[in-house]
Amino acid sequence: MRLLLLGPPGAGKGTQAKRMSRRYGLTALSSGDILRGQIQIGSAVGKRAAPFVSSGALVPDDVITDVMLAGIAGTPYRTGFILDGFPRTLPQAQALDEGIEDLGVDITAVLNFDMDDRDIVSRIVGRRSCGKCGAVYNVDFLPPKTADVCDVCGSPLVQRVDDREDVVVNRLKTYRAQTAPLVKYYSDKGLLHTIDASAAADAVEAQVGLMIDSLSAGK
Ligand code: AMP
Repeated sequence: MRLLLLGPPGAGKGTQAKRMSRRYGLTALSSGDILRGQIQIGSAVGKRAAPFVSSGALVPDDVITDVMLAGIAGTPYRTGFILDGFPRTLPQAQALDEGIEDLGVDITAVLNFDMDDRDIVSRIVGRRSCGKCGAVYNVDFLPPKTADVCDVCGSPLVQRVDDREDVVVNRLKTYRAQTAPLVKYYSDKGLLHTIDASAAADAVEAQVGLMIDSLSAGK
């Protein structure tokens, strides 16, 4: 199963990618997590990406495409993988098609996490993540057991700098202008499955589970 998760920031793609990864034993690659890791270690990729990430713009296609294709090649891609946050533009989608064709595999399905902009802003500003293990929470919808402390590893939770309201508005504009056209791209290929992402995380997980079961049954 090679799955792409498409949808606006804050729609819960990262949370579901982690859950699906555990449940189905698939490697999840999050482009945002990879870029944040590169920024943290101060690599050449990180230095190039940092100004784009902090302003809510997309990093240049060539930078992210090279990183993600290398990431995919390093996974057991014949068994499957989950891509969260990549591709985000048409050139990235085309480069992904070519890159995985070279590996002799294709995309099984694209899950489109659908959600209204108004709900997104309130969800993102409540988002907190663990600075150590990357687990993601929401102060309103998915609170940790103890406020501001990670359930998984006990480290303090932090707010991402690009989750501030002004940056979120920019990220949403970027999404609508540059990434939303991918809905048609994958729909035309017959790969698109829409998920109602406004529900709570457990309910979204149940929808995703049903979809994956029906995809497996149809194979
Ligand atoms: P995310 O964690 O997926 O919301 O990504 C955080 C930020 O990383 C985005 O706002 C972009 O600046 C950058 N980013 C992540 N994935 C991509 C991508 N596929 N193309 C370009 N920029 C990306």
